Amino acid sequence: MGSEPELSVSELFLSLQGESTYAGLPCVFIRLGGCNLRCRYCDARYTYEEAATARSLAYLLDFAGRYPEAIVEITGGEPLLQPGVIPLMAELIRGGRTVLLETNGSLDIAPVPAGVVTIMDVKCPQGAGADSTRRENLTRLRPQDELKFVLASRADYEWSCRFLAEHRLLAPLADRRPRTILFSPVTSHLPAARLAAWLIADRLPVRLQLQLHKVIWPESERGV
Ligand code: SF4
Repeated sequence: MGSEPELSVSELFLSLQGESTYAGLPCVFIRLGGCNLRCRYCDARYTYEEAATARSLAYLLDFAGRYPEAIVEITGGEPLLQPGVIPLMAELIRGGRTVLLETNGSLDIAPVPAGVVTIMDVKCPQGAGADSTRRENLTRLRPQDELKFVLASRADYEWSCRFLAEHRLLAPLADRRPRTILFSPVTSHLPAARLAAWLIADRLPVRLQLQLHKVIWPESERGV
């Protein structure tokens, strides 16, 4: 028998989900260390600038098991950098948990177990610093998955609109994979009201997404 996989963990905590259609629900966060990108507006630099802690699969399953009422979010950093995340998600799904995976979209999502809700970022080149989306992932998204654009400017908005059109992501809702498209403003650079006005003027069938944890706990950078 091989040794049990260990994962490099930045934070473990119980809070409320903040950045998807699951926002507001009690959520166990398993935040993994390390990231392959360096986005301009990253709010989790500590996941790759500070040392993480090695935790076994059993430890993480036990931690999630203490909060059976909560959904479980695997986030980072970039969780898919660590192969051990796949058996972790598979075990959580086998245990009947609702599992969300937040990924930056630059790595292959094919190994993500069925049943996981993948919330995949599309990094806008101007705001994030580079266009890093792995295009094959767009064909692998399932109806339950969510695609999130993080916008810091009008240029990001126009780029995102072009991206949606080029990849035919605005099909009628029933045909859409994924069904949910989120536009999330970096509010320090793009006020939500300005983005809302653009969405209404352009009649885009996307969902404006605010980072709920930043509304509730504006002073907290970790553990929320
Ligand atoms: S992908 Fe996420 S964690 Fe990585 S640099 Fe970008 S914002 Fe930060």
